[in-house]
Amino acid sequence: MSDKTPITVAYGDGIGPEIMKVTLDVIQAAGAKLEIEEIEIGEKVYARGNTAGIESSSWESLLRTRVFLKAPITTPQGGGFKSLNVTTRKTLGLYANVRPCVSYYPFIDIKYPEMDLVIMRENEEDTYAGIEHRQTDQVTQCLKLITSPGSEKIIRYAFEYARANNRKKVTCFVKDNIMKITDGLFHRIFNEVGEEYPDIEKESWIVDIGAAKLATAPELFDVVVMENLYGDILSDVTAQMTGSVGLAGSANIGDRCAMFEAIHGSAPRHAGKNTANPSGLLLAAVMMLAHINQGDVASKVHNAWLKTIEDGIHTKDIYREGISKLKAGTREFGEAVIERLGQKPSTLKEASYKPFNVKTFDHYDYRKLKRAEKKTVGVDIFLHWYHGTANELGEKLKSTVTDGLKLVMISNRGVKVWPGGLEETFCVDHWRCRFQSANDGEEITHNQIIAQMQKITDAGFDIIKTENLCTFDGVPGFSLAQGQ
Ligand code: NAD
Repeated sequence: MSDKTPITVAYGDGIGPEIMKVTLDVIQAAGAKLEIEEIEIGEKVYARGNTAGIESSSWESLLRTRVFLKAPITTPQGGGFKSLNVTTRKTLGLYANVRPCVSYYPFIDIKYPEMDLVIMRENEEDTYAGIEHRQTDQVTQCLKLITSPGSEKIIRYAFEYARANNRKKVTCFVKDNIMKITDGLFHRIFNEVGEEYPDIEKESWIVDIGAAKLATAPELFDVVVMENLYGDILSDVTAQMTGSVGLAGSANIGDRCAMFEAIHGSAPRHAGKNTANPSGLLLAAVMMLAHINQGDVASKVHNAWLKTIEDGIHTKDIYREGISKLKAGTREFGEAVIERLGQKPSTLKEASYKPFNVKTFDHYDYRKLKRAEKKTVGVDIFLHWYHGTANELGEKLKSTVTDGLKLVMISNRGVKVWPGGLEETFCVDHWRCRFQSANDGEEITHNQIIAQMQKITDAGFDIIKTENLCTFDGVPGFSLAQGQ
């Protein structure tokens, strides 16, 4: 049997082919044992009218090898083209996006010499579920989905990663002072899972001030776990803080498959010029080698790369007069790394990779979970209406209320505007009308909701959507309007 590990490789678009060639040259020169299956993704596939940017035969390769080394691709704007990155992450269940951001000071001049952190970004949920609607003339919405298993997977992975990589602290960024239910869930699971890791320090920050701290005192952070959107934004910020977005690699980890890529895009303006920095993809390949149990090769490549950086051989994006010794092209940089295979850095921290594979939810079966006692206690009915004021709407709706229900309040953009609203509150054409049981807290039926909707429709209103209001084991699963 071959001792080579099968992997799937895509050369991508823009600078992709150049940096992938250098990356493969370096890791193969270091002794990586790989059986490479090549697939085509991105621009050429989109141009054939395939809106996903990937052929079905390529999925077969990915499901066979389960390891994907991917160069960046160019996503065409508009035209119904889907982001292949988001599709791949979600289809293959790659829930953890691991993005180490490290200072290489004094060899790369940056403001924060002490930086050595890992952004652990949730990769499948949040606003990236892509459930968006235009609801009225004036209002659009994007659903933010945060689930308990999705949160637990990434948070558990963050703690396991910290433990395996000798990291001391895991920090959670959330915005649960505003999004009490969604970010509140993420925060609660962080606290619960964290209790299982007494050896690791834990802390939580509200994401806004946390981001400000991260950008000005990165030495305070070690592993930082967060939801998808916050992680997307802040990992670019921290990658750029290391000196160039071209330096950072990332791993996208699932229980059954993994994908490794640079965090930057295809930088089309730099394509074909031999100026791109291949480091991001090379360091992603290092993470891949560790993942496929070739940690010795991973360490060898990473240390040769660190030595190259120490020797001042720098690509254009990180070249600084007085610090750098030689401005290298993409290919020449790769050759310099190959020349240094077997060498170690003398100032920067030496890399050493041990096997680390963690499965957090391989056999998760949501049907077997204990269910909460769920009671429907009301309904929010959303209307597209532009004929008058909040008070006028309240008066009209009062005459539609069915037996056993009461109209509790109306809000506009989340602020209560009826009863007792203020004329000063700016309103748009999108109204949330809350109906609950006439007897406070009592359960209502779906038939009552349907009857209420029928009456509202008969009165000539345009219903956009409804949201049931439920309690779970007696705890309300809905927020109050501001001012309610
Ligand atoms: P980008 O990351 O491609 O480039 C932004 C700028 O960063 C470049 O102009 C360049 O100055 C610098 N840069 C990036 N990588 C570099 C490298 N390796 N060496 C030196 N400098 C580098 O971002 P963009 O311009 O917003 O996006 C270009 C295309 O890439 C878009 O089509 C976008 O959809 C796509 N994209 C793909 C991925 C991916 O495949 N994972 C990720 C992000 C963006």
